Amino acid sequence: MRRRDFLAASAAATAAVNTMTERFAWAADLPRDIKITRVTSFELKLTRPKHVGKNSYRHDHGPESADRVLRVHTNAGIDGFGTSWSGANECAQLLGKSPLDFFDRDARKVTGPLARYTAPVWDLVGKILEKPVWQLLRNPSDPDVDAEVPVYDGSIYFTDLRPPHLQNWPDEFKRELDMSLARGHRAFKVKIGRGRLWMLAEEGYQRDLEVVRLIRKHVGPDVLIGVDANDGYDFARTRRFVQDTADLNIAFIEEMFTEDVPKYLELKAFIRELGLNTLIADGENKRLPAEMQSWVEARAVDILQGDMNLFGFEDILAEAAMARPHGAMIAPHNWGSLFGFYLQLQVGRAIPNFYRAEEDPLSCKAVGTDGYRMRDGRCRLPDAPGLGLTLNDATLPEVACVHFDLKR
Ligand SMILES: [Mg+2]
Repeated sequence: MRRRDFLAASAAATAAVNTMTERFAWAADLPRDIKITRVTSFELKLTRPKHVGKNSYRHDHGPESADRVLRVHTNAGIDGFGTSWSGANECAQLLGKSPLDFFDRDARKVTGPLARYTAPVWDLVGKILEKPVWQLLRNPSDPDVDAEVPVYDGSIYFTDLRPPHLQNWPDEFKRELDMSLARGHRAFKVKIGRGRLWMLAEEGYQRDLEVVRLIRKHVGPDVLIGVDANDGYDFARTRRFVQDTADLNIAFIEEMFTEDVPKYLELKAFIRELGLNTLIADGENKRLPAEMQSWVEARAVDILQGDMNLFGFEDILAEAAMARPHGAMIAPHNWGSLFGFYLQLQVGRAIPNFYRAEEDPLSCKAVGTDGYRMRDGRCRLPDAPGLGLTLNDATLPEVACVHFDLKR
């Protein structure tokens, strides 16, 4: 090859690499003539396979929940949908616009009237480009991530305190666990903190221990167990719990007490002294990634838990990027949302420091999730474009309550 040809070839190769390694490079491929013609917002009724009881601070969560969904239609006959709490005045600003109008390539995010609730736009763009959302979110310069995203069942609440199970609660826990294991789960988050409101402090603490012991015995040594006190413990009780469960291989402890960097560092030192690998998780009540920055810089918290629907894809990516240089992982909080589970799987497939996706075992007869396959505690994502979910227009009216339907 002559020198001039070589230089031309290497310049072309460098340009190709630059394009490939730039996040959101795909925005250049979006056709400009696709316009948004209609936006519909509705509340979607969701159902659990069981009645979920109390946690340390809140009464029964019951057998139902709801997602607020926004559906965005276009003149190309393609529609996108996802969770969004944006109101009618914000959503009306989408009408007549191209999805491309909402990409800020320099800021590397979707911006605009939907604020943080950008999931419907991501679903739409994925469908237009025929790519799954995770491929659009992924930073091409990041290392490869396993194709199956680790998951956990976050629905093991205070079943023992529900009136129908006061006598047979060990059996009821076993039934719940078996049901979840049969669905493919191999990791559980167990609520603790009964002694904060519902039992006398010591009696509640002993029941917490009894339940965690029962669960470890029932699921065996290979299943992951984490606990969540919803800030229902204090520092002293947390130390005691860590010591009393040292033989149970507790993978993570979440919101044991109101976050406190020096106390967390002391707790971590104690965990290390005991020779344990238990991780500290916190952050579900924070509104912005920056509110957790001091935690990761001090290496006080191992797993950050910004809320999936509140943070949206953009701030979950920002939270993960903030955590990664400090060795921290992220595991979004997702309680009460069906869509939030699938949003986590898409973003989890895109980032290298994702811990696990939380499932609240909800379903909805109008939402198809068929392409997702859960097995051995991990979930394989579909190749389908966008979020890989479907809406069934025939059954939607039975489960949806329309907030507004705006057309142009
Ligand atoms: Mg929690």
